[in-house]
Amino acid sequence: MHKPLKKIVIVGGGSAGWLTAGIIAAEHISNENSVVEITLVESADVAPVGVGEGTWPSMRSTLKKMGISETAFFLSCDASFKQGSKFSHWTTNTNEHYYHPFTLPNGFNDINLAPHWQPYRDKISFADAVNEQSHLGLHNRAPKQISTAEYAFSANYGYHLDAGKFGQFLQKHCTEKLHVKHIIDHVIKVNSAENGDIASISTKQNGEISGDLFIDCTGSAAILFAKHYNIPFVSKKQVLFNDSALAVQVQYQNDESPIASFTHSTAQKAGWIWDIGLPSRRGVGYTYSSSHINDENAEKELRAYITPSLGEKAADSAMIRKIAINPGHREKFWHKNCVAIGMSAGFIEPLEASALVLIELSAKMISEQLPANRQTMDIIAKRFNEKFLHRWENIIDFLKLHYALSKRNDSSYWLDNRESSTIPETLQEQLTLWKYHSPYKFDATHTEEMFPSASFQYVLYGMGFITEPPRKKSVDQSQEAEKLFNENVNRTKQLLTALPTNRELINKIKQYGLPKI
Ligand SMILES: Cc1cc2nc3c(=O)[nH]c(=O)nc-3n(C[C@H](O)[C@H](O)[C@H](O)COP(=O)(O)OP(=O)(O)OC[C@H]3O[C@@H](n4cnc5c(N)ncnc54)[C@H](O)[C@@H]3O)c2cc1C
Repeated sequence: MHKPLKKIVIVGGGSAGWLTAGIIAAEHISNENSVVEITLVESADVAPVGVGEGTWPSMRSTLKKMGISETAFFLSCDASFKQGSKFSHWTTNTNEHYYHPFTLPNGFNDINLAPHWQPYRDKISFADAVNEQSHLGLHNRAPKQISTAEYAFSANYGYHLDAGKFGQFLQKHCTEKLHVKHIIDHVIKVNSAENGDIASISTKQNGEISGDLFIDCTGSAAILFAKHYNIPFVSKKQVLFNDSALAVQVQYQNDESPIASFTHSTAQKAGWIWDIGLPSRRGVGYTYSSSHINDENAEKELRAYITPSLGEKAADSAMIRKIAINPGHREKFWHKNCVAIGMSAGFIEPLEASALVLIELSAKMISEQLPANRQTMDIIAKRFNEKFLHRWENIIDFLKLHYALSKRNDSSYWLDNRESSTIPETLQEQLTLWKYHSPYKFDATHTEEMFPSASFQYVLYGMGFITEPPRKKSVDQSQEAEKLFNENVNRTKQLLTALPTNRELINKIKQYGLPKI
C-alpha cells in the first residue's frame, strides 16, 4: 500500500493516449532515470478513430506545458486557428445564424452585460455587441499577428487540426523529448492482482507488462474499463439523439480560398453538419439520429451540402466514411488502479468539441494529483469520479440547450428534441431561472465548470431567448455597460484593420515561424 507509484501504463495510442502521456510526462519525467515511468502500448491492428478536428483554447496551454513549439505544431498538424463555433439554421431555419466565440464578454469579471444588451436586442446580436470575435469570424481574421509570440493572442483561440497528423506529432514529441516508452503490440489479456487491481496486461509479442496505474485509452473498445471491469455505460441517447456520423474531406477551390475561424455547424433535418477549415482542406461531416433519418438520406443531405463547393460530379463521388456514435459515458471513470480517458470513458456528439478538452482535463487532474502510493489512490479516484461525472452532466445540459431552444418544426427530430421528457431536469430548472435573470457567475455550481455562464449567454441570446429585464439597474453599471459597448466598436475596427486573414497568417508562419516566447 505504501510502495511509491512508479509505473504508469497507458493502453491506446489515439489522441487520448498521446495527450495523456504528454501531459503526465511533462510534469513527472525530466530524464530517463526519473522515478515515474510511462509506457504507452498501442495495437497495430486497431487504427485510432482519426477524427476530432476542433479543440478548445485549453490546447494552447497543454501544448505549451509539453514544451511544444507552436510553429512546429502548425506546420506538422495542418493546423489553423479556431475562435469558436458558428451555428446556422438552428433556431428557425430561415437562414439565420449566431456565434459562440471563445472570448468572454468584455468586462465579464466585473459586470454582466446581458441585461444591458437586452434593450438593443433587435439592433445588434449579443455576440456582436459584447466583444470583437464574431466580427473577426465574419471576415476570416486570424486572432494574432506574425509578430505575436507563440501561444499569445489578440483574440482568444484554440485550433482546427488534422487528427491523424496530430497523433503522429504527439507520439514523436512524447517519445523523443518526454521519455515515454512506446510499445506497438495488441493487448490480449488483462491480469488481476489479489485486491482486484490490474497487475499486468498480456500482449501478443511483448509478453506481460506490469504497472502501478493503468490508463485505458483504447477508444470505444474500452478493453480495461468495459471488457475487464464491466463498468456500466450510461446511455444518453434519450437526451442527445445523434448516434451516427458521416465524414468527408473537401478540397478548397484554390490556394487562396479563405480559411474560416469558426467551426461552422449547420442544422439539418435530423442533425447538423460540421465544417472545419484546415489550411490544406476542409473537414466536413453530418452527425445525425438514426431514429430520424436513414444512412442513405443522410448521405444525400451531406452530398447536397458539399455540392456548391465541389460541383455535382465531385460531390457525388467524394469518399464518405461512416462512424457510429454511442452517446453516453461510463458510470465512473476511475476504478481500482485503472482510469478511463477519451472514448473509453464515453462520447457525446461533437457539437461543442468537448472531447479533447475532457481528455486534457482528465490527464491534468491525474498529473496534479498523481497518487503517491496505492493507499491514497482510492481517495483521489473518488474525487476524480465526482468531478468528471459533474463535467459530463454539464456538457450534456449545454449541448441539449442548443436543441431545447430551437423553434424548428420542419421534422420530428426537432419536435422530439423539445419534448420535456428528453430535457434533463437540471437544464429545465436553469431555463426557468433564466427567464428572470441572465446566467452569470453564481450559475456555476462547481469550480472550473466546463462551460462558463458566458457560453450559456451566447447560446441563449444567440437563439432568441428572452430574459425579463431586471426591475432596477444601477446607473453606474448602465454607464459602465455603455462604455464597454462603445469600446467594443472601436476595438473591433482596430483589430479588423490590424489583423491578417487566417490564410495570410498561416502562410507567414510557414515562411518565418512565430516568435518564441
Ligand atoms: C465524428 C466525430 C467527430 C469528432 N469531432 C471532435 C472534435 O471536433 N473535437 C473533439 O474534441 N473531439 C472530437 N471527437 C472525439 C475525438 O475524436 C476523440 O475524443 C479522440 O480522437 C480520442 O479518441 P481515443 O484516443 O479515445 O480513441 P481512438 O482514437 O479510437 O484510439 C484507440 C487506441 O486504442 C488502441 N487499442 C484498441 N484496442 C487495443 C488493444 N487490444 N491493444 C492495444 N491497443 C488497443 C488503438 O490501437 C488506438 O491506438 C469526434 C469524434 C467523432 C466520432
